[in-house]
Amino acid sequence: MILRIEHLGIAVKDGNAALQLFESLLGRPAYKTEAVDSEKVITHFYQVGESKVELLAAGSPDSTIAKFIEKRGEGIHHVAFEVDDIRNEMLRLKEGGFQLLSDEPQKGADNKLICFLHPRYTGGVLVELCQQIK
Ligand code: ZN
Repeated sequence: MILRIEHLGIAVKDGNAALQLFESLLGRPAYKTEAVDSEKVITHFYQVGESKVELLAAGSPDSTIAKFIEKRGEGIHHVAFEVDDIRNEMLRLKEGGFQLLSDEPQKGADNKLICFLHPRYTGGVLVELCQQIK
């Protein structure tokens, strides 16, 4: 079951400049910075009520974030829904005609198992499913 919007992912060109911008905007510092080597991305997280904002900066020029920014510019990159059982949801959505970008849940930032859905089948929105690793 989908439980809530866990976070919004925002693609940024310059991680340090964005850190300051969002600290001013949200009135609080990021609580975590984490490099996700498998995605070649550096993430910064802000807690906003029961949801989070995740800033995504490219860790290398061939990272998917660099390609995204090249194509579409900076801005909202994905919406992440928290689920109680990611394998169940992956199965449910696959059977519902959605396309998963991985067959197995991947290890994401912030201690999560994650899976992305292809935006072609989700109204152009890149959707991430995430489940807290206990
Ligand atoms: Zn995310």
